[in-house]
Amino acid sequence: MTALYIHFPFCLQKCRYCSFNSIPIPRNVMLVTGYLQALEREIALYASHYPNESLSSIYLGGGTPTVLPAETLCRILFYCRENFAFSPEIEITIEANPGTVTQGMLQLLRDAGVNRLSLGVQSFKSAELQMLGRSHSVSDVYAAYDAARKAGFDNINLDLIYALPGQSLQSWRENLCSAIQLGPEHLSIYGLSLEEDTPLADDLKKGKLEACSEEMHISMWEETASMVAKAGFIRYEISNYAKPGKVCRHNITYWENKTYLGVGAGAHGYYDHVRYGNENNIQKYIERVEKGEFPRAFEEHQSQKEEMVDTIIMGLRLTKGLSRQKFARRFGCSFESLYEKELKKMVEDGLMAISDEAIFLTERGQILSNYVLSHFV
Ligand code: SF4
Repeated sequence: MTALYIHFPFCLQKCRYCSFNSIPIPRNVMLVTGYLQALEREIALYASHYPNESLSSIYLGGGTPTVLPAETLCRILFYCRENFAFSPEIEITIEANPGTVTQGMLQLLRDAGVNRLSLGVQSFKSAELQMLGRSHSVSDVYAAYDAARKAGFDNINLDLIYALPGQSLQSWRENLCSAIQLGPEHLSIYGLSLEEDTPLADDLKKGKLEACSEEMHISMWEETASMVAKAGFIRYEISNYAKPGKVCRHNITYWENKTYLGVGAGAHGYYDHVRYGNENNIQKYIERVEKGEFPRAFEEHQSQKEEMVDTIIMGLRLTKGLSRQKFARRFGCSFESLYEKELKKMVEDGLMAISDEAIFLTERGQILSNYVLSHFV
């Protein structure tokens, strides 16, 4: 049983903070058609290599998959179904941006088996959306959410970004309030990460905008934890909150360092102890697939040590932490024996804790997660 990530590298426009592998949807229809054909061929390639594999989850991500017609996306899903067995409880998520979906479109996707919708809201403030260069308006958010509910989606995630340049704690609180009032099942809430060579990072460098301070970032994170807990969400990962029973099973695959296949330009995968990344360039990606090759730009066989480090770094992001038993079973040794000194220091500093079942970050440890995790690399 494995997970499948499918990358759609097209968006309406490039957001001002974005460093993902995405481009504004090209006018050249041939490129888009060629890409979709290549996706199908890559899926078939994996299915023929791993004929006994079945899928526990599929994630259609990007980019913005919903800049493509629903029929096209449904066709890719049908193609997956023709090539792989699906687990009876398969979770199928699609990422969508407000402004790119209608009720009719969402209905088609829902009927094709998509049972989770992740809406890229980012902010409920027009000025913030503008600063981020998002293509949608606040009213698009409400319209998309309403359309999704009417189409029968009962598992909706909202993506939000905080710690924006110039954002006040009050403005962030109001954003959170708006998100909670909509009543989604899941919230993914990340602090803005400023990536080199993006227009937003340039504005900060030139002094046109002022970056959010470290203290404000922490205050916003704490405020988030408290507000969403009061609204009935459970924090199950540093940046992810879910109503009971609504955790994202696809993303849990990543955090538990389990196997997943990634298809599409720039997609990453981890299978058979090999971590790989596909060609970012869409044309190159298509050409490699057309030759019948796996379109990988790199692949690295993971040593036991590398697999262990990844399991720790990702597993400790989960609130439940790293299962001591599962870790020992997977690697034949205990976490405590490997990192005795580091663990002792982290526990003494109040950043980590140990229970009979697990080793986990404390609340303070989660705030300082980058610092804590750096001790286990
Ligand atoms: S919608 Fe997402 S992937 Fe597309 S440009 Fe904006 S941030 Fe990047």
